Amino acid sequence: MGLLWGIDLGGTKTECVVLRAGDKEILARKRTATPVEAGYGAILLNIRRLMHTVARENRFPLPQTVGIGTPGTLDRETETLKNSNTTVLNGKPLLKELEDTLDMKVILENDANCFALAESTLGVVRKVLPQAQTVFGVILGTGVGGGMVCDGRVWKGRHGIAGEWGHNPLLENGDACYCGRRGCVETVISGPALERFYRQQSGCRRSLKEIVSLTPTDAAARATLERLVFFLGKALAVVVNILDPDVIILGGGVGNVPALYEQVPAALSAWMFNDRLTTPLLKPALGDSAGVLGAALLQA
Ligand SMILES: [Zn+2]
Repeated sequence: MGLLWGIDLGGTKTECVVLRAGDKEILARKRTATPVEAGYGAILLNIRRLMHTVARENRFPLPQTVGIGTPGTLDRETETLKNSNTTVLNGKPLLKELEDTLDMKVILENDANCFALAESTLGVVRKVLPQAQTVFGVILGTGVGGGMVCDGRVWKGRHGIAGEWGHNPLLENGDACYCGRRGCVETVISGPALERFYRQQSGCRRSLKEIVSLTPTDAAARATLERLVFFLGKALAVVVNILDPDVIILGGGVGNVPALYEQVPAALSAWMFNDRLTTPLLKPALGDSAGVLGAALLQA
């Protein structure tokens, strides 16, 4: 029986899944906390321990290959990780040291790419638009990222940053971004950026979920939602004009705002080089599981 092993290495949790190769059914799944405080070496050993536990508990042999998804990307020239918000991993030769620690081949991939791959292969795209060739998976939450899948494969790009629309410039002289630039998409429409905007407008500190629920009665909440719709449309138009994907998936916490599916198509059309937009905006179907499932699918 062929098995596909995947690991989602997140900043707070590390999860392992084992799928049956043929029908991709989940045979085993286990998660642990990521020991970020204990440092880089402990994070690697924790993955090894988790895989050994899953193998032992389910009487599976350890695999020869595992797919691992994590924030950030491996730099082609230096072979070290970059752009990860689990900053302890940045600058480390993660792929090589994972292979040494686990004693197996590792396929390392950005977590947003894993999300896009899982939603394409097992999630909403397979259900709604199985003939889609190009899929753009948006992560819109604490951070803003994304991944691209073309013909069922992750599109990595020359620098490994394909799909990173969250750091495209959006506002001249905008807020400082952790990436060192100003006015990136992420500084305008990430969850924290919208909550900050609402606080400036209203003087009140509220979560985005609360803000959205207040839109019928609260002018500052309406202004925040309008800002999200306007700038999300404008930022996604850049993606559409270049990639023109068959479908866009709106993942991450901000993607849970129902109004986006009604209002963003018009906001996007206004900036698009075409007289109408037919690209479906879809809500993801796999929830929290997309990252780890996508990691397992890397070797499929
Ligand atoms: Zn940035």
